[in-house]
Amino acid sequence: MGLTVAEKCIQNSIVYGDMTKRGSRIGIHAHQTLGHDLNAIMTFLALNQLGIDHVKTELSVQYMDHNMIQADYKNADDHRFLQEMTAKYGVVCARPGSGICHQLHLEHFGIPGKTLIGGDSHTPCQGGLGMFAVGVGGFDAAMAMAGEPLYIKMPYIINIHLTGHLPAKVSAKNVILEVLRRIDVKGGVGKVLEYSGPGVKTLNVAERSTITNMGAETGATTSIFPSDENTKAWMRAYHREEDWIPLSADEDAHYDEVMEINLNELEPLIALPSSPGKVVPVREVAGRKIDQVMLGSCTNTALNDMKSIANIMEGHTISDSVDAALYPSTRTVIAESIKRGYFNSIVDSGVRIFEPMCGGCNGCGFAPQTKGVSIRTTPRNFPGRSGTKDDQVYLAAPETAAVSAITGEITDPRDVDIPEFSYELPDSFIEPSNLFYTPHYVDEVHYGPNLKPIPKFGKHDSVESGEVLLKLPDNITTDHICPAGALYLPIRSNIPEISKHSFMTIDLTFPDRAKAAEGGVLVAGENYGQGSSREQAAIIPRFLGIKAILAKDFARLHLANLVNWGVVPLTFKSDDDYQAIDQGDTLTVKLDEMQAGQDVTVINETKGATFTVSSPLSTEDIETVKWGGRLNQMRNRSDS
Ligand code: SF4
Repeated sequence: MGLTVAEKCIQNSIVYGDMTKRGSRIGIHAHQTLGHDLNAIMTFLALNQLGIDHVKTELSVQYMDHNMIQADYKNADDHRFLQEMTAKYGVVCARPGSGICHQLHLEHFGIPGKTLIGGDSHTPCQGGLGMFAVGVGGFDAAMAMAGEPLYIKMPYIINIHLTGHLPAKVSAKNVILEVLRRIDVKGGVGKVLEYSGPGVKTLNVAERSTITNMGAETGATTSIFPSDENTKAWMRAYHREEDWIPLSADEDAHYDEVMEINLNELEPLIALPSSPGKVVPVREVAGRKIDQVMLGSCTNTALNDMKSIANIMEGHTISDSVDAALYPSTRTVIAESIKRGYFNSIVDSGVRIFEPMCGGCNGCGFAPQTKGVSIRTTPRNFPGRSGTKDDQVYLAAPETAAVSAITGEITDPRDVDIPEFSYELPDSFIEPSNLFYTPHYVDEVHYGPNLKPIPKFGKHDSVESGEVLLKLPDNITTDHICPAGALYLPIRSNIPEISKHSFMTIDLTFPDRAKAAEGGVLVAGENYGQGSSREQAAIIPRFLGIKAILAKDFARLHLANLVNWGVVPLTFKSDDDYQAIDQGDTLTVKLDEMQAGQDVTVINETKGATFTVSSPLSTEDIETVKWGGRLNQMRNRSDS
């Protein structure tokens, strides 16, 4: 039987397991890795503790893009630490402010058919080039850099079959919004979204990467497009044609499911506050007043997005009631936009211009006012992510966002006169040597006072008891557990400090109660831990004494982080069991019963009830959790 594009990539990197067995444990080798300034601190601390002396990948790149605000020494110290660590380990380092990691990687490093393991949940952006790109936490990124396999469940492969071509004023963002409209924020869990069909050739790499980037919001392991002449053209534009290979599914490839999307039938879509899965047609919410527009992010400021925004802004001024900002994706996008006059049109319109970075997307520079309504071209809009606790963030394509900035209300771009534009590739780019460099090796790495060592955790007891310190609903995000925003990003490398703000948008008393209780459990609904790859969202609960989390189910990336940091994840077998627990109940969990596929007994001491939960983990992962996390396990392996 023939192979899909994803299977061809996996075949090219599999080192353990059987890829014909969907859902089984496989190990894949990383050809490349990427990290960014927020998550890579943990990556390098882990590499240091593991005694690794040099990365073992073909290429590892460290980006400085997530938090560029240097309000005091903290962020500057973190940057210096990362630069010194990259020199020590042989990692290519991007100069701060060169651009957003995923777009820079797409421009200069992504290669069709190869595997990228990235310490960021939007790593699947490279799927637009035909790369098998999986987002992980900082610890798994460290393991990949050390040459260790990444263990994942062999994904089911969903074919998204595209026909037709996008109508005028309906850009690629609407394709992934349509996918999210259909399968919501957990419909991709355990799956790869693989695009095929005649509609593929109507989309260029920038458009494809918009789709694969935001595919992360479905919970998918990754998303991928074939590599074809459009891919070749992209790589030629960046003088990398020699890295191009054609890659397509075999005619008799087998897919586990098929989703048909006729591009001709798409219309402008928008995700309502505060989930990327709450998607409706723009026309249904048109007319709602807005306060703010944010253009940019890893999803939507390639050169063609800039051209589209510039065409809309040309000769217009943004509404007096709107504050609008643009985050270009890379320095090349800025330089080419200036050369072609796009920048002038945007600047003239009154849009504020930030440097190429994540910034406002993760609450670091462009938060809306209290209860502010913001339209963003970013991939996610979890509550408070913008930096404002009670924000009302909508997600839309650049055309919808730009037109709305002018009108001051949510506006369907088809209702206004917008010039048509054609796609353009850059005809020059910033020389990579001006964007990336190898920092000078130093004998001593500087640890700033804000950078605290990784906390040490012990092994679990065979039976753990504790109070239910929080009972949580569905779709708890990593932003809930470990907040984004300019106040909190600089202290992510300081677990004791950031822990004080855990779950702050849900219950401000949680950190103090958890510390006082000296151990407890959390109870949650579906899709616990959706969102980013930040492993602080796993470390913080462990640091605060949380032994186990009982949830209806877990987001893939967060589940892996819980295992790595030794928090026991258990899944409810029935909604009744979830409903029967109240916050404040005391639960006893018989961890000695934990085996793959076996039930684990839980006693609700407060209610005098007993029920069983199951473990979502493999035998190997259960072993890691029982060790109290992967670092403990690795240390033990090297001691013995
Ligand atoms: Fe940066 Fe936002 Fe993209 Fe994450 S989603 S990589 S924070 S731009």
